[in-house]
Amino acid sequence: KQGKRVYELAKELGLKSQNLMDIMQELGIPAKSTLSVVDAESASLISDYVNELKHKAKEQKEELESIPDNITLVEFCAHFGVPIEEVREKIMKFGLPYKPSYRYSRQEVHYLAQELGLKVPPFLDEEFKKRFVKRAPVVTVMGHVDHGKTTLLDTIRKTNVAAREKGQITQAIGASTVRIHGEDIIFIDTPGHEAFTEMRLRGSLVTDIVILVVAADEGVKEQTIESLNHAKAARVPIIVAVNKVDKPGADPEMVKHQLADRGLLPEEWGGQTVYVLVSAKTGQGIQDLLEIIRLQADLLDLKTNPNTIASGTVIESKIDKNVGPLATVIVQTGTLKVGTYLRAGNTVGKIRFLKDTFGKNVSLSPAVSAVEIAGLEEIPEAGEIFYELSGIEEMREEKEKIEEAKKKAKEEGRVPKTLEDLLKEM
Ligand code: GDP
Ligand code: MG
Repeated sequence: KQGKRVYELAKELGLKSQNLMDIMQELGIPAKSTLSVVDAESASLISDYVNELKHKAKEQKEELESIPDNITLVEFCAHFGVPIEEVREKIMKFGLPYKPSYRYSRQEVHYLAQELGLKVPPFLDEEFKKRFVKRAPVVTVMGHVDHGKTTLLDTIRKTNVAAREKGQITQAIGASTVRIHGEDIIFIDTPGHEAFTEMRLRGSLVTDIVILVVAADEGVKEQTIESLNHAKAARVPIIVAVNKVDKPGADPEMVKHQLADRGLLPEEWGGQTVYVLVSAKTGQGIQDLLEIIRLQADLLDLKTNPNTIASGTVIESKIDKNVGPLATVIVQTGTLKVGTYLRAGNTVGKIRFLKDTFGKNVSLSPAVSAVEIAGLEEIPEAGEIFYELSGIEEMREEKEKIEEAKKKAKEEGRVPKTLEDLLKEM
């Protein structure tokens, strides 16, 4: 049998000559030009290989087409056989919006399935992937009461503002956006008295990293252990901030020993946990702590899509006697804007204004950010999810649904269900 020229073989196989030459290179049978002659044996080897590639590509295409398109989250869970709680906890962290009526495109379904570690072909759509940009980490500060969580966050926020404005930060806020060397970090404070179930809910929905604050003079206490258990349950990395090292009785080594016994073996002892010695009072070690958070966040490779519908988590809420209900939220996907219609937990509203961490009015707040919103009709509960509505029509519909659910609950003598409860039942 006679040999063939590269361009002839390419034509037979339905390939461009250049592509065939690339394949030949891969196979270790390089050709000098498209006119080069390939011997019969090599040609058959090459055809077999090309046919195998084609077969695989066809299979992959079929597999991709079997991924459902235009489905809700409930349908997604049914299709892949995963519990909705599991997906609910993670979806916004991956940068996909959370909304029960939202219909996810095939690409979104594919992307989500891959992020969840489900068995799907590799995700190859680079154009789609480009929509997901690097996002700020959400860092929750936990620990025993009086160990210095709020002071630590105050100190971090103060390193972040001009000296003349420092006096303005007096009030403790549940969530804040802090810009360090041009990159944002979102911090969540956790008051010690708070019910831990609620904490856990918020924690797992938003938190990427936990900072466990332990006072070096007191060491591990009851709520330190509780916090640790919640952090472990949320399966997120834990950084230990050994605080109050300025105090005479400070004993950081004691803290390390106490926590090493509980699964947080320090790096310097061959473990995995980073301990940073800090003083929220003097500012010692704060830069190191921020640096460690940055490094940890980079390892997590966090991404979101700021150009989809807005969704996120409510961190705290209150009634202001002048402006009415206010809620501090973390925007996890999309962008909140003045005028956006929202459902948040069991209430709805249209955003009247947005205030950033420093009380400044902003017209928009893209994912991921902490922001205070005014315009909801009632105060949503901490830990509830919020999501964007398409307009006044949908807001009316949602309001009706909420009223109906409340009425039904009342008739049946039950406490009105939260959005969370309703979602669990779906
Ligand atoms: P939280 O309950 O964990 O939020 O604790 P706070 O931030 O409210 O702090 C409790 C007390 O500890 C306050 O009186 C703080 O001034 C004090 N404190 C916090 N951090 C430090 C520190 O690094 N050194 C010293 N000496 N005192 C601190
Ligand atoms: Mg506090």
